[in-house]
Amino acid sequence: MNIIVLVKQVPDTTEVKLDPKTGNLIREGIESIINPDDAHALEAAIDLKERHGGKITVLSMGPPQAIDAISEAMGMGADEGILLSDRAFAGADTWATSTTLGKAIEKKGKYDLVLCGRQAIDGDTAQIGPQVAEYLGLPQVSYVYDIEKVAKKVMVVKRRLEDGFERIQCTLPAVLTVIGDMNRPRYSHVARLIDACGEKAKIKIWNAADIGVQTRDVGLEGSLTHVIKTFAPKFKRQGEMLQGDTKTIVEQLVGKLKENMLI
Ligand SMILES: Cc1cc2nc3c(=O)[nH]c(=O)nc-3n(C[C@H](O)[C@H](O)[C@H](O)COP(=O)(O)OP(=O)(O)OC[C@H]3O[C@@H](n4cnc5c(N)ncnc54)[C@H](O)[C@@H]3O)c2cc1C
Repeated sequence: MNIIVLVKQVPDTTEVKLDPKTGNLIREGIESIINPDDAHALEAAIDLKERHGGKITVLSMGPPQAIDAISEAMGMGADEGILLSDRAFAGADTWATSTTLGKAIEKKGKYDLVLCGRQAIDGDTAQIGPQVAEYLGLPQVSYVYDIEKVAKKVMVVKRRLEDGFERIQCTLPAVLTVIGDMNRPRYSHVARLIDACGEKAKIKIWNAADIGVQTRDVGLEGSLTHVIKTFAPKFKRQGEMLQGDTKTIVEQLVGKLKENMLI
């Protein structure tokens, strides 16, 4: 079974802080990691490979340093990696990101399954998996919790609903987006990690020309949406410190609670 896993490198924080002047993410001092849901997608791919054989290719779009996420994925058990990196890809919205990933998957060819995380912890849109499936014209199942059965051209998966599960049979190739409760990602194997960081590592770097896209179709130019302003929400709640001895503070507190009709 040939599996492509989409892996995004993200800052290691769910509390994204923004520079108030530029509106850009403050990345200084924040380590980069494999997006948590993607580690679960990778674990699912390794488990499938162990049971059914095949090959795992990790695909990522990002700046040159995103190669670290690919190396880590290969340390876990992926066989090869492709990094899509080109200045032309910068500033992509989800549409342009999915187009770029979709083109690269088409170029790679020969795959039975595309696995990705449900959501990235920085962009948080959960749009990429479904958009890539639409681009490739493939069946898609989101919120996958378990891959129960794999046959030659079909698989049965369990997807999580708010108050239960749904069992779905879908034909292959397909795109699945997986959730964090699915499994427990393994740690990288040190020897594999050393190989993945070495000169002989099977990691390709493809640019826009390699995947046959025009600059107007990718990155900022190919984006259908543009961010007008990025800002952190202002807190409406305000704290107030009451001063004085205990009796005075209690009197003030009761007065304020009555004033606001809270007691
Ligand atoms: C309107 C808009 C404008 C944007 N403008 C910019 C911008 O100017 N500059 C900028 O840097 N970003 C920009 N982004 C963010 C960027 O497009 C997203 O990070 C990217 O499209 C992925 O979306 P997401 O992070 O929400 O991923 P999700 O859809 O939440 O991710 C789901 C899964 O898709 C896969 N995936 C997602 N992204 C990648 C990737 N790059 N490589 C491989 N797999 C991936 C992973 O498996 C991930 O778990 C913009 C986003 C929007 C919505």
